[in-house]
Amino acid sequence: MTRRGSDPYVPGHGDSSYDVEHYDLEIGYRVDGNRLDGEATLRCRANEPIDRIDLDLHSLRTVKVHVDGAVARHRAHLGRLTVQLGRTVPEGEDFEVRVRYSGNPGPIRSRKLGEAGWEELEDGVIVAAQPHGAPSWFPCNDRPDDKATYDIALTVPKGYHVAVAGEPAGQTHGRSVTWRYTQQAPMPTYLATVQIGRYEVIEQTGAPVPVRVVAPKDRPREGFEAAFGMQPQMLGFFAETFGDYPFESYTAVITDDDLEIPLESQGLSTFGRNFMCDDWECIRLVAHELSHQWWGNSVTLTHWRDIWLHEGFACYSEWLWSERIGLMTVGERAEVHHARVRDDDGPDLLLGDPGPELMFDDRVYKRGALTLHALRARVGDARFFDALRTWADTHRHGNVTTAMFVEHVERVTGEDLGGLFEEWLYSVELPPLPV
Ligand SMILES: [Zn+2]
Repeated sequence: MTRRGSDPYVPGHGDSSYDVEHYDLEIGYRVDGNRLDGEATLRCRANEPIDRIDLDLHSLRTVKVHVDGAVARHRAHLGRLTVQLGRTVPEGEDFEVRVRYSGNPGPIRSRKLGEAGWEELEDGVIVAAQPHGAPSWFPCNDRPDDKATYDIALTVPKGYHVAVAGEPAGQTHGRSVTWRYTQQAPMPTYLATVQIGRYEVIEQTGAPVPVRVVAPKDRPREGFEAAFGMQPQMLGFFAETFGDYPFESYTAVITDDDLEIPLESQGLSTFGRNFMCDDWECIRLVAHELSHQWWGNSVTLTHWRDIWLHEGFACYSEWLWSERIGLMTVGERAEVHHARVRDDDGPDLLLGDPGPELMFDDRVYKRGALTLHALRARVGDARFFDALRTWADTHRHGNVTTAMFVEHVERVTGEDLGGLFEEWLYSVELPPLPV
């Protein structure tokens, strides 16, 4: 029996009866006309005896499916592609599914979650898939707790730069250009991304790993320097504070278009042109997205209800950077945002389970950061940062839950913290400002 919809926040996505171990994606894309032709080869492993699986694939037409080299029966319905395996695959056994597909990709719309996925720009593409947009461009098992490695090849017309969540693995030049990337660190589907545009690459030096910016040539010099110029120092600071950077490199893509919000992918973040400015609003988001490489991308939630483990931590990282560069201290930021959360007249929010409509509510970010600040006030700096570093290290490239975090912090600090987390995560009322 195939179990559908493993996460109530993103219903109808994911199939827990199997895991994907590796995705091999060969994609051709015409920017002019928004036409995608893809072939996805998935190495899968059965988690129970199964004779069919569900893949997620939205609005793209399935041309042909093979299982272990043989043509397979399949049926597409409401974003689900059910594939008959032709036999019962025993638990623990691998099988290979190959899907040829094509169409005009676009964002996936959800009433509760909004839009996510493949999106055309003025002259290019972004993929911002969190949390439900991955099936807009490849067939996948769309669960955050099913991490896999990837090889991605994208063939586009000459003149475009292609950035992918992964390390460059060569290019082939012909009438068009094929860009190859490989992602060897396990990655959930929603953190896979493709960015296409008329960009140039700026290498930044001084960080423990390669740091680059992929941006339009005609960028404003001052705004660019103010917002992105300190990325290597920022990465170094976060590595000192949270432990080694978890991936091989870091890339910030700045699109030619303005974007409403930036977004993290694995080893890569996407910003709009409007984020090249010297305001704290720009600088803090550069810090926020970079810190997601630890909080969210390496250490990833198992269920979307635990989103504070990503956003609260990333917001707290902004405050740490603020203090580091001599702007407001963490304590001052905490005070400001405690007052704002207190005065917010939005619907009641339970930080530990905010529901899909409120999962990206600003209070998840700010109250999440305040929760960490309360923890720090309680256990002291040394034990707090030790707990963060060991959390990042123990669960590097893994999946976690809030219960695991509470258990971890109690073990590392030797304190009973049930009351603190109960107050901050599981009651609506805002606790007093931690001092
Ligand atoms: Zn974030």
